[in-house]
Amino acid sequence: MEVKEVKILSAKFDIKNAHKIETAKKHGAYSTLDKLFSMKPEEVIEEVKNSGLRGRGGAGFPAGLKWSFLPKDTGKPIYLTVNSDESEPATFKDRYILVKDPHMMIEGIIICCYAIDCHESFIYIRGEYTSQVEILQEAIDEAYNAGYLGKTVDGHDFKLEVTVHRGAGAYICGEETALLESIEGKKGQPRSKPPFPAVEGLYGCPTIINNVQSIASLPFIMEKGADAYKAYGTEKSAGTHLFGISGHVEKPGMYELPLGLPLLQVIDTVAGGVWKGRALKGVIPGGSSTPVLLPEEAKTATLDYESMAEHKTMFGSGGIVVLDETVDMVELVQNLIAFYHHESCGQCTPCREGLGWMLKITEKILSGEGSMADIDLLRELCDNIEMKTVCVLSAACTMPVRSYLDKFRHEFEAYIQTDPSPHKKQEQASP
Ligand code: SF4
Repeated sequence: MEVKEVKILSAKFDIKNAHKIETAKKHGAYSTLDKLFSMKPEEVIEEVKNSGLRGRGGAGFPAGLKWSFLPKDTGKPIYLTVNSDESEPATFKDRYILVKDPHMMIEGIIICCYAIDCHESFIYIRGEYTSQVEILQEAIDEAYNAGYLGKTVDGHDFKLEVTVHRGAGAYICGEETALLESIEGKKGQPRSKPPFPAVEGLYGCPTIINNVQSIASLPFIMEKGADAYKAYGTEKSAGTHLFGISGHVEKPGMYELPLGLPLLQVIDTVAGGVWKGRALKGVIPGGSSTPVLLPEEAKTATLDYESMAEHKTMFGSGGIVVLDETVDMVELVQNLIAFYHHESCGQCTPCREGLGWMLKITEKILSGEGSMADIDLLRELCDNIEMKTVCVLSAACTMPVRSYLDKFRHEFEAYIQTDPSPHKKQEQASP
């Protein structure tokens, strides 16, 4: 299989000033609107369904199907919220769209809003994205001035307002219902579901929440059609994805690739291989919350939703982290738990307290004070916390931790049998 970058979402990324409307328009921005308004909204939904586009925020739910869940004739307004809270460690794809080609996303918002009969959209952007929010807001102002947003869209009888809402820097606000609470001006804590946002979302109204990349994929689908989009990827995982490859590789970066490529080949060719010629120890396939893959598992894994599920992990956000032979997996786990414990919103006891216990046990093991029973207790806590909370933040911690415990248990045991860790011991032994 040919492992090669493609340019659909990233087509304008290398064009100077493509974030400005004049340049973006010269390269095709907003050119799909005449076609869009010549179609019926249900035809647009059907086209997106046929394209096989799946939500790019991590869950991978089919985008067009999600839209069709909206209840009809409720008498309430319908909202679109674009999730730009990109906070998952190792994930940095949406920021490229926001700064390099924001008009592609705005055009996507117009397409989605027309399809779902929405006239008010919010872009929820993470608080730390300071330069991104400035560029995005400038692009929105340009779109208003050019007549693509406001009382009419490109001269068509369709009104659309777009508002940027900046978060305050909480990871949990990337969870869709916490995000809605935050927009409503409340504490950013997840809601119990059901009701799901499509039925009762923002201000109690039907709401679609889509990721930046999902929305930005729409102009291509509108312009070229569902079949052209489906020509990339696999049967069930269609299209392309922006993969952020980081960690121990020679060429870390963001790469657009069709779905379905062999993971190890991508690391070796696109990202230049494991750095300094070191041996591969593991691969985190889709952001910190996805279970780690051993090298032998990575060898058979392909970059699509189905293959990742077969390998008992998740496609996630496409944030791939390569771990070389020097990585201390116990330290990695401690770092991971510390992050999720810090970001817990605190409303569920198993998450608030349980992640704290997991952190203390891991620190105890790292300090050389742990016992074999602590490793089993850590494993037991993962099982007891998971799926017993309002949202999946706790599982985002326990699922990967369980994978490290199961696949690298010997490293945890080494801290108990020989203190310090095998890696540190090696370092200390070196002259
Ligand atoms: Fe908050 Fe954690 Fe409960 Fe999610 S699981 S609602 S982050 S306490």
